[in-house]
Amino acid sequence: MAPPPPDPVEQLYRDLETKIREYRPKDDLAPLERAFRFARQWHEGQTRDSGEPYMVHPVKVALILAEMRMDVVAMETGLLHDVVEDTSVTLEQVRKEFGEEVAHCVDGVTKLSKLDFYSAEDRQAESFRKMLLAMVEDIRVMMVKLADRLHNMRTLGFLSPERRERIARETIEIYAPIAHRLGMGKVRGQLEDLAFQYLEPDAFREIVTNIESRRHSNEEFLEEIRHTVESELRREGIPARLEARIKRPFSVFHKLRRQKIAMDQVYDLMALRIVTDSVKNCYAALGVIHNKWRPIPGRIKDFIAIPRPNLYQSLHTSVVGPHGQTFEVQIRTDEMHRVAEEGIAAHWKYKEGRKGPAEDDQRIAWLRHLVEWQQDMQDPGEFMSTLKVDLYPEEVYTFTPRGKVIVLPREATPIDFAYAIHSDVGSTCVGAKVNGRIVPLRSSLRNGDVVEIMTQSGHQPSKDWLAFVKTARARNKIKHLINASERVKAIEIGEKYLDKEARRLGVQLGRVTKSDFDRVAGEYGYSKMEDLYAALGYGKFSARQVLAKVAPEVVADEPEESKPTGGAAAEPQAAPAPGARQQDGDAVIKVRGLDDLLVYRAKCCNPIRGEAIVGYVTRGKGVAVHSKLCPNVQSLMYDVERKIEVEWARAVEEAFPVRLVLLTDDRPGMLNQLTSAISDENTNIRSLEAKTAVDQDGGIVEMTVDVRDKKQLEKLVAAMRRISGVRDVERLFK
Ligand code: MN
Repeated sequence: MAPPPPDPVEQLYRDLETKIREYRPKDDLAPLERAFRFARQWHEGQTRDSGEPYMVHPVKVALILAEMRMDVVAMETGLLHDVVEDTSVTLEQVRKEFGEEVAHCVDGVTKLSKLDFYSAEDRQAESFRKMLLAMVEDIRVMMVKLADRLHNMRTLGFLSPERRERIARETIEIYAPIAHRLGMGKVRGQLEDLAFQYLEPDAFREIVTNIESRRHSNEEFLEEIRHTVESELRREGIPARLEARIKRPFSVFHKLRRQKIAMDQVYDLMALRIVTDSVKNCYAALGVIHNKWRPIPGRIKDFIAIPRPNLYQSLHTSVVGPHGQTFEVQIRTDEMHRVAEEGIAAHWKYKEGRKGPAEDDQRIAWLRHLVEWQQDMQDPGEFMSTLKVDLYPEEVYTFTPRGKVIVLPREATPIDFAYAIHSDVGSTCVGAKVNGRIVPLRSSLRNGDVVEIMTQSGHQPSKDWLAFVKTARARNKIKHLINASERVKAIEIGEKYLDKEARRLGVQLGRVTKSDFDRVAGEYGYSKMEDLYAALGYGKFSARQVLAKVAPEVVADEPEESKPTGGAAAEPQAAPAPGARQQDGDAVIKVRGLDDLLVYRAKCCNPIRGEAIVGYVTRGKGVAVHSKLCPNVQSLMYDVERKIEVEWARAVEEAFPVRLVLLTDDRPGMLNQLTSAISDENTNIRSLEAKTAVDQDGGIVEMTVDVRDKKQLEKLVAAMRRISGVRDVERLFK
């Protein structure tokens, strides 16, 4: 009888075992084999788009994991990663058969069910969120996902063009950057080149053709260089292993597009890598190279002294070689080389109670932060865009005045820098100097910039900052503070509003017990009264509605009140958000009987002192005060419940905003001195912007301050003029 035909899937599995034996000779592979049999049984009869048995895919994923020298749990997960998503196996079954760790990892890589979400976008975002959460607990989740993606990219050609494009885009936008953040240079490079081929087929072909046409001469050139370097290093007694490489297609493409240059202007198209034994010899080798060939200024990068955030370390230099050819030299130790290629997987070792890298490994610290912040992000779309921005691999290296390195994404601003130092520094930032010169807060930072942040205590972040900050950290902190202060205002408004209505309707709130309040809050779906106050302040309900529930015997819940109150269209004036400072002269208006309600003048009629006025409780923005003659009042007042009586206050504690412009010397400490002079005069700064006046060789500072009267203004201006370096102070009228 003829032997049965060889089974290719079985053969692949044997290859996997052989590979594992090479680096984990003592591990028990019985659970791995069980996972293989289990997955194979459930995927039986399924095929991939290539026509192969489905099981080829999970085994190849496990093989990629073996190349990364991962442990048995990771490879079990690799074999089982699609059973929950694509067969009728439940997670419970996986847990029972293979234990908690494998189940957790399988769960992490399983997409959410199509039934759970309406849109594909939301489903994608929520699946990512789930995966990232699982990965924070166990980095193997991401290793399996990356291996899965790598194999899918290698076999992408069998899919329809639409799916191909979607998967390739997701790969380049999310998975390749994640691999980069984790320092996994090898995986990242493969993912990028595979995705590039499908996303930009024309550019890909052009670059590959170009590289190929020069390959022969380039390789000859590299061979010549390699010989020279080898003998030079030997003569100096520096042990080294040399590798020559031609830049990857995607890497070339990226550079051409970013720097808008032509192929022959790419200095590092060809590179020689020197791998030596010690840091000392890295610098010694750099000396040898620079002694032999002229370095190109500005192209020497010391990532040994300043490692990249993903812990990549190496020395880079570009030099002009024989025949005027430029090439790059990368110099690193063996250890650095492993980290550059394998990243977080380089030192991956499963120990009891520790699943992978140390807690404080900065390669996943960013992810922990992201997962923390994402709790504030309700909108899946927002989560995805934050994730993409945060994954963006380009970075700039900036410094504090004391020389500490702060790594930021490209185009990051001084505000991002300030938040990277500390959230308090960010929130109280009023100005910034870059390399000793005052710059606008929205300007972009560049490599090597020394950034000095001016702060003023009590300063609040501005909503405008959201338009230009680049880091998720700054964005989230700013949003958080703005939301928190808006909520405080809303609670305040809600409380006053309820109080005021209670008086009008004769409800004695003092007699209502806390538990009654909580019951009413509960009827509106809130766990505490504070939340209901906030909802009232945001204009979600009317005070009368609430009072009808609090004291039904006094207040009837009239039918017309059940319709939504107000309506955005009924509020034509552009009201400021509660977080904003009060409008000009707001303090001069008082709500009768309640003097600390948030009030502002309606922009539509901007009533002046002495005029007959009327107040209207807006949706979460406080009380808008209109002139009684304002045409909007008539249409607004159909909702009589929101009408509130207001009157001009007698007090003269008014603060007027005054705009000042200063011409100063451009020197360190100037802004600090100015802001402290202002606070010495008990004056509030509303806004401050500083810029460099190149034509006058100095700085221009524009600010708006609140002053009570002319006398205070004169004192303030005098104090500013006394500061040495202040050349002129002028008041702006506008
Ligand atoms: Mn898969």
